[in-house]
Amino acid sequence: MDLALTELQQEIDASVRKVCAQFPDSYWHDCDERARFPEEFYAAMAAAGWLGITMPQELGGAGLGVTEAAIMMHAVSSSGGAQAAASSIHINLFGPHAIVVHGTPEQKKRWLEPLIKGDEKACFGVTEPDAGLDTTSITTFARKVNGGYRVSGRKMWTSTAQEAHKILLLTRTTSKADSRRPTEGMTLFYSDLDRKKIEVKRIKKLGRNAVDSNATFIDDYFVPDADRIGEEGKGFHYLLDSLNPERILVGIEAIGIGRDALSRAAKICARACGVRSPNREESRHPTSIGRELDLPGVGLLDVHARRVPLRPRPALRRGSERGQVPVGSRRLRCSDARRAHPWWHGLCP
Ligand SMILES: Cc1cc2nc3c(=O)[nH]c(=O)nc-3n(C[C@H](O)[C@H](O)[C@H](O)COP(=O)(O)OP(=O)(O)OC[C@H]3O[C@@H](n4cnc5c(N)ncnc54)[C@H](O)[C@@H]3O)c2cc1C
Repeated sequence: MDLALTELQQEIDASVRKVCAQFPDSYWHDCDERARFPEEFYAAMAAAGWLGITMPQELGGAGLGVTEAAIMMHAVSSSGGAQAAASSIHINLFGPHAIVVHGTPEQKKRWLEPLIKGDEKACFGVTEPDAGLDTTSITTFARKVNGGYRVSGRKMWTSTAQEAHKILLLTRTTSKADSRRPTEGMTLFYSDLDRKKIEVKRIKKLGRNAVDSNATFIDDYFVPDADRIGEEGKGFHYLLDSLNPERILVGIEAIGIGRDALSRAAKICARACGVRSPNREESRHPTSIGRELDLPGVGLLDVHARRVPLRPRPALRRGSERGQVPVGSRRLRCSDARRAHPWWHGLCP
């Protein structure tokens, strides 16, 4: 299987890295320490057009797919900003995909254009205190009234709700007990997140503080009919168009962060040891960190599994002049790690 990046994909990787390079470690440190949203980074990514990579071309997006989005987020997460950088823009890529697929032309124009330009931010209101992975057990209810719905319920872990202008909101319009199937009876909305009427309470957490996590309290909040996506009762199925590709991004972002950590560790080790060439490093320090690091192998396996081509040329070889390159093995030697790591092929800075 040829997993080499195409010219376009390499260009995406290089261009995204160019934007990320404007934001040094000190920037991310400051954002995290002050729990401040990385507004400048967000604006720079919007200005360069990256917030619309998966959005329709006729609305100003690039109309590209999950592979290109994964390459973009791999570049973002491995460029120093780690989870903070990734989470600040992550939702833009596939969060609104239910709108791309099921929205009316008027809704797409009204909602997607501001997201692509970076004029509006969206958050994702799915998880609830008593319904995490068991999404069909959500109880947030949208009661039909004249011209719209009255929504009441609680959402949990709503990322960026302190910043977002809009919320993609999964509700029940028929209780689970009264629905023919658990996945029926749910309705999806995309509406204003009016913090004067919806209480958004920040959750304290240990990391990724530049991007807020929240408990969201919705009480008798009016949502107009015009903000409903598709038909009533089919919201769960629409949501899958967002959730499925979104999971690929979550995985690849973690791989990017791991690669960044690995590269930094290797550089620190090389500096500390006064290593000039890979061969010397390995021969002088047989127990060096590279022996313990298996991440590139895991990453590549993940990429293989999902057929998201992220590996640049030249290909990882099975067997080499200096011993095993155990594709599929969870232990790679330092030299193997280098071979698998994009940095050592000059793709990364
Ligand atoms: C930092 C952060 C940001 C987030 N951002 C958002 C966001 O923006 N919007 C949003 O909607 N959500 C968000 N989430 C929520 C995230 O999607 C949920 O954490 C996830 O859906 C899992 O739900 P849960 O934490 O309640 O875990 P649970 O559903 O309680 O699951 C916990 C564990 O139990 C296992 N488990 C659960 N039920 C069963 C069962 N019946 N049988 C066997 N095993 C089971 C699961 O596999 C899992 O390993 C965020 C979470 C975090 C931590």
